Amino acid sequence: MSSLRFKVVEEASNRKAVEVDIPKERPQEYYASKVFNRAKMYEYLPLDTYKALINAIDNKEPISLEVADSVAEGMKRWATDNGVRHYTHWFQPLTETTAEKHDGFIEHDGKGGIVEEFSGKLLVQQEPDASSFPNGGIRNTFEARGYSAWDISSPVFILDNTLCIPTIFISYTGESLDYKTPLLRALSAVDKAGTGVARYFDPNVQHVISNLGWEQEYFLVDEALYAARPDLVMTGRTLMGHESAKNQQLEDHYFGAIPSRVQAFMLDLEIEAHKLGIPAKTRHNEVAPNQFELAPIFEETNLANDHNMLIMSVMAEVARRHNFRILLHEKPFAGINGSGKHNNWSLGTDTGTLLFAPGKTPMENLQFITFVANVMAAVHRHNALLKASIMSATNCHRLGANEAPPAIISIFTGSQLAEILSKIKNSDKDELIALAGKEKLDLGVAQIPELMIDNTDRNRTSPFAFTGNRFEFRAVGSSANCASAMIALNAAVAEQLADFKQKVDSRLAAGEGLQHALLAEIKALLLYSEAIHFDGNGYSDEWKEEAARRGLDCETNPALIFDAYLRPSSIEMFRKTGVMNHVELEARNEVKWEMYTKKIQIEARVLGDLAINHIIPVATRYLSILLDNMVKIRTLFPGNKGEELSSQDAATVEKIMHHCSIIKEEVAKMVNARKDANRISEEREKALAYSLHVAPSLEVIRYHIDKLELMVDNEMWPLPKYRELLFIR
Ligand code: ADP
Ligand code: MG
Repeated sequence: MSSLRFKVVEEASNRKAVEVDIPKERPQEYYASKVFNRAKMYEYLPLDTYKALINAIDNKEPISLEVADSVAEGMKRWATDNGVRHYTHWFQPLTETTAEKHDGFIEHDGKGGIVEEFSGKLLVQQEPDASSFPNGGIRNTFEARGYSAWDISSPVFILDNTLCIPTIFISYTGESLDYKTPLLRALSAVDKAGTGVARYFDPNVQHVISNLGWEQEYFLVDEALYAARPDLVMTGRTLMGHESAKNQQLEDHYFGAIPSRVQAFMLDLEIEAHKLGIPAKTRHNEVAPNQFELAPIFEETNLANDHNMLIMSVMAEVARRHNFRILLHEKPFAGINGSGKHNNWSLGTDTGTLLFAPGKTPMENLQFITFVANVMAAVHRHNALLKASIMSATNCHRLGANEAPPAIISIFTGSQLAEILSKIKNSDKDELIALAGKEKLDLGVAQIPELMIDNTDRNRTSPFAFTGNRFEFRAVGSSANCASAMIALNAAVAEQLADFKQKVDSRLAAGEGLQHALLAEIKALLLYSEAIHFDGNGYSDEWKEEAARRGLDCETNPALIFDAYLRPSSIEMFRKTGVMNHVELEARNEVKWEMYTKKIQIEARVLGDLAINHIIPVATRYLSILLDNMVKIRTLFPGNKGEELSSQDAATVEKIMHHCSIIKEEVAKMVNARKDANRISEEREKALAYSLHVAPSLEVIRYHIDKLELMVDNEMWPLPKYRELLFIR
């Protein structure tokens, strides 16, 4: 009956590793071979053009159309040398994926034939007919024009025989419709504000650069099994499935050897990544069965983010070559860990200083404390916003699920840093002056050797942890565009640094010494940030109560969490830093609510269908077998004897009927709740209705289906079970 299930399970378990086409050269030789990087620019561009372009990239200046024409010509030559015939503007709309529209290089030659051509105009700006991208109402369809414009700071690359040009995507009226535009603005804001503060310590600093090292977690599932699970295909997660008797309790996967099929996939992926100039470095098993991680060496945030967006699509493609499907969903399976994307984030100067790393001299350490204190204050000030920046219909299943940070933002510092901070915080005025003495700055930091602060910390329960020379924002979801978190974080820190500088400058103007002025303001920040600092167990219930007492944002409903974007403090912060205006913020929230609603809507439809068309019929068939059996027993053994012998079947029959009737009722209830919610026109209210009245039914229905899975004849069960999905041989 469920021959399909057995067929696909057999197909999956017989599958062998796919051979990988390993280049003969060493990685350093094919690294970035598909990227129009500086070496290729030098090779393919006239010297004048090359210099003008590098100057524009380094100093964040626009290029003239003349230079653009010359660059386009060289780029086209490089591309055609590599067999490429098409180009596309590659951008990041608010859908969490990337978008492309391909065009050929061809133009009429005026003689009835064609020539291969690519102009500066086409390189620099395009007008994709993009009315179907989410825009939160900014761009009405009657003027469905959005522009994509080349981001020269991110190099052009070749993917699938197409020249891809990273671009921003903005509306006709200039509002951003993507992630890249506000990210670039936030990075520029933190550069400006950070440079102002870094110059207290080193007047040579010209720029402060934001770095990002993401750790991408994912699941792999065999393609045959995947295809037999409509819920995975349509929603990216299993909407039903009883826990496997064995899953991650033995913790054998994390330390285990990587299965050969997966190893082949990882090797293939790494080679592809390296050709694209993505410095993939680390690969390993994760905690849950079938769960893995890929991490590159960190890069400048805009580039790192492009690389993450790129790797997510490359992963999907490479997985297919290996007869896998990749699951980037935050919680594809109940009962085992979900996937996140730790964002390792730091600020550094163009003079080579990592600003969150303790240094060798007292002054370097004061700089370190200055930046740490400002980050803590910014995260405290905008903790609700930072949570909103990582929230989604998919990530909300993972947060607070006792394997991931709770839906409360706090900062872990580790005991060594905590001790230093508390020393400053508790010093009185005279001590501050002593600490800031001219000859010797004794923060108690100087004796700590370089980079030795808690860089081995393994407190995994904190959503935002200091890890020696960076902060690790761990609440980011595995399927998310990291830009969302990076926009909020860099902008918040930029605002805070600018405020800090203003205060320190007024102290200096009043005649205070620099060190004293800095220490006094640091102390104020540390006192202000006490509530956000938490080194304990973030999974505990006590912490939830404690966090509420401390006034941290403890909202758990996604629809309400998004409200944080429209708080006056957020609007003001984004305005001051020039990252987003009020219209953009409103529009983005409309999109967030709409996306939330749509995702729950799809899940509700899929689960409703599966419950009614797959599960109930099978359960009913099994029920009738049991009933048949009971009748036969009772015919053969009339009276008490027959009743006694069939009593267990009778009990099972009752249970099955009970679960089936609840499932049917709940599906009907869910359909009605959906209809009611769909009548609401306001996006926020609609999302709220979905979260309160539709989403809970998914859990109820699932619970009863999972109970049936344990009762119904295994031969009859239609969908691959967890134990079949989760263990790659
Ligand atoms: P784990 O957190 O699992 O120990 P790693 O130490 O390998 O992982 O680092 C994870 C990521 O952090 C990598 O991408 C690494 O390049 C990045 N990283 C290391 N130092 C910094 C830094 N100063 N700023 C930003 N990212 C960093
Ligand atoms: Mg990490």
